[in-house]
Amino acid sequence: MDDNQEKLTEFEIKQIARRFETSDVEEILQWAVDRFGTGLVMTSNFGVEGIVVMDKLARIAPQTPIIYLSTGYQFPETDRLKDRLRDLYDLNIVEHRAELSVEQQNQVFGEKLFVRNPDQCCHLRKVEPLQKALKGSEAWIAALRRDQSPTRATIGIVEWNAKHQLVKINPLATWSRRDVWDYVVRHNLPYNTLYDEGYTSIGCVPCTRRVMPGAHERSGRWDGQQKLECGIHL
Ligand code: SF4
Repeated sequence: MDDNQEKLTEFEIKQIARRFETSDVEEILQWAVDRFGTGLVMTSNFGVEGIVVMDKLARIAPQTPIIYLSTGYQFPETDRLKDRLRDLYDLNIVEHRAELSVEQQNQVFGEKLFVRNPDQCCHLRKVEPLQKALKGSEAWIAALRRDQSPTRATIGIVEWNAKHQLVKINPLATWSRRDVWDYVVRHNLPYNTLYDEGYTSIGCVPCTRRVMPGAHERSGRWDGQQKLECGIHL
């Protein structure tokens, strides 16, 4: 952001969000790049929605930092896709890790914290690293969709994120899962091969399951628990 540019008020953010309800993703991203410049970051675990946003962002501002939270529990397929995308788009992927390695976490909190207390595990391995990663940023692009889960149903295309004190941009908020896959297929984009094996949402290995055809796309995350979110988007 230009030093002379005033910070957006919450009222202005709501007005911009309303204006963008029918806008193209490119228009939203271009606005974000123009408005926030080097203060803009994106987060991704290289889910299929993130690939769509990266494909478009790479044409506008390819050096925008892509924050990747490397939990130590990620699928090797996810890491392979990350490397492929970095080569394809020359992305500026910035990896952030928890303070404790998985082994250290096991020593301090006991084995399989993800079973006994997944909220604490997510806090240590995702929420805390994200807090550090976003420090100093003015705006954060995330590839969330409203129809992914009840917890995402009311997200704005642009919104004030009080937790991190920055503007959050959800350029795919109005997209459906079909829209995303149509785009990926039409543009022949790479995607996580686990989608071809029955996974519909991909997180950490211990907390991600295949789902039956027709099941809700996020039902394979923290299967058997009440948990719907890791906490970074709450
Ligand atoms: Fe831990 Fe599971 Fe959360 Fe990953 S998704 S940080 S393994 S609880």
